[in-house]
Amino acid sequence: MNTIKLKAPGKINWTLNVTGRRPDGYHEVEMLMQSISLWDELILTECREGIEVAGNARIMPLDESNLAAKAARLIMDRFGVKGGVRIEINKNIPVSAGLAGGSADAAAVLAGLNALWQLGLSDEELAGLGAALGADIPFCIFGGTALARGIGDRLTSLPALEDIPLVLVKPSFGVSTASVYQALKLDEINFRPDWEMVYQLLAAGEFYLLSSYMGNVLEQVTAKLYPQINEIKEALDNTGAAVSMMTGSGSAVFGVFESARQARKAAEKLKLHYPHVFFASSYGRGVEIVQGGSLWTE
Ligand code: ATP
Repeated sequence: MNTIKLKAPGKINWTLNVTGRRPDGYHEVEMLMQSISLWDELILTECREGIEVAGNARIMPLDESNLAAKAARLIMDRFGVKGGVRIEINKNIPVSAGLAGGSADAAAVLAGLNALWQLGLSDEELAGLGAALGADIPFCIFGGTALARGIGDRLTSLPALEDIPLVLVKPSFGVSTASVYQALKLDEINFRPDWEMVYQLLAAGEFYLLSSYMGNVLEQVTAKLYPQINEIKEALDNTGAAVSMMTGSGSAVFGVFESARQARKAAEKLKLHYPHVFFASSYGRGVEIVQGGSLWTE
């Protein structure tokens, strides 16, 4: 039996700017993206036919609407694969949190099936396939640190920012990305982030200067709908975060810390008040095969 195990890291946005709206309704964005050390684990097992998704049904759909199943369907149809796959998802990335959990799973399925069925596709080709399913999927294939433009799918890789200590807080509610973009009024944006300054300050470890340049133009929109976003930011700031920001369209908020020790202490305190708190750090890679296939590493 052919089985492959993969790591599918989530992401945060160090910056998120919306620069325009296209005639087709999509928004033009400019985002400094970052993989994080919080990942789902996927196990792909070849089977005779069909696509089966297994995992925790209380937190994600296990039918063909799962983004991982859609990625498998795309590969099977495009390459006329005979056979099927069972996709087991051990979910660690909170859902509807702005952490690209579904996109990471889909990216892992594309990379995993490429190896399992020896399709010989490059990362660029996998990213091209993934873009048709979701704008964050190309980033999840490459990972690390990158500037994303267009609708989020046009990537410029940057030297990866690694091991920056983070605390993530996910409130009990999730947020629908579509509803936040619908409520966004471009002429009401009063602060736009400067991704170049943010990248330089992060690379130099000057975290306390970040707040003048870091920003997410969706934060005010989501915070208007869910005031708890601002409350969490305040709680992160009060536990010693150098800066705090919402990721994507929310609902997760992250704080940047000077040291892993400080971040762990802050996470312990925040766990007393919030149901989902994670200590993590910035991470230098995207999806990765950890066992099985031709890239077996253990
Ligand atoms: P987005 O910006 O695309 O909304 P997100 O990171 O905020 O992404 P996800 O965790 O990807 O949120 O979940 C978004 C939606 O996708 C949820 O409604 C969820 O039920 C659905 N979904 C489908 N497949 C998955 C999956 N494999 N993991 C998580 N959610 C999934």
